[in-house]
Amino acid sequence: MKRKKHIVQEVIDLTPETFIIRLDRKDFKFEPGQYVIIRIPDQNKGREYSIYSGITDEYLDFLVREIPVGEFSRYLRHLKPGSELDVEGPKGYFILNEQSKMGQPSLFIASGTGISPFHSYVKSYPDLNYKVLHRVHFAKEAYGRETFDPKRFLLCTSRSADGDFLGRVSNYLRQNPVSGETVCYLCGNSDMIEEVTTILEQYGLPAENIRTEVFF
Ligand SMILES: Cc1cc2nc3c(=O)[nH]c(=O)nc-3n(C[C@H](O)[C@H](O)[C@H](O)COP(=O)(O)OP(=O)(O)OC[C@H]3O[C@@H](n4cnc5c(N)ncnc54)[C@H](O)[C@@H]3O)c2cc1C
Repeated sequence: MKRKKHIVQEVIDLTPETFIIRLDRKDFKFEPGQYVIIRIPDQNKGREYSIYSGITDEYLDFLVREIPVGEFSRYLRHLKPGSELDVEGPKGYFILNEQSKMGQPSLFIASGTGISPFHSYVKSYPDLNYKVLHRVHFAKEAYGRETFDPKRFLLCTSRSADGDFLGRVSNYLRQNPVSGETVCYLCGNSDMIEEVTTILEQYGLPAENIRTEVFF
């Protein structure tokens, strides 16, 4: 797939660990939920990042957690406006299905930066019939919370009582059953996705109503 050069417009710090890297959009087209591979220009080194911005935004945003021992996320964090990056994509199939676009109840379950595709969905399609469960350690990690309807957003904090539910998203789901017609979208780390998938299967959700995107 072809790579194109994009220019860094801004690096926006959200927390000491997490930031948004904003690139110019040019004529880049994508479906909300897709990701790209960002590469260092003219090198093969690159990583996958979900698109955080909406389809009508003039820029391309990516929500990135800086990993203390991670080579690539640290490189991105220290880029200055005007730097170039190669972008390959869009890639992936973690997009909304037709039922969700038509208003069927949809449950978006994220851990950490896994909120990114859901942020793009809701920015792009404001009339969705959705609920978000976002699992973080502390409430300050509720990235982009202001984009979501407060009545449709629930923050599960596992290390402090400053969210809406104290504990893991799996604990919340064990106490709050999900109906079989709900289309569930899970994004983030593989432990969360495995645990939540098992719970949703126990509730009788068919496989086609459990859609997943694993970051690591
Ligand atoms: C389809 C896809 C989409 C992705 N989208 C995003 C995204 O939108 N934002 C993002 O920050 N990352 C995303 N990632 C992860 C990203 O590609 C890199 O792995 C991440 O930035 C770490 O790269 P690194 O070189 O700094 O560290 P590496 O040396 O590659 O990774 C070190 C370790 O960091 C942990 N890790 C990786 N990503 C994360 C994370 N996001 N949060 C917490 N721990 C992590 C893992 O345990 C990993 O083994 C995505 C991955 C995939 C496969």
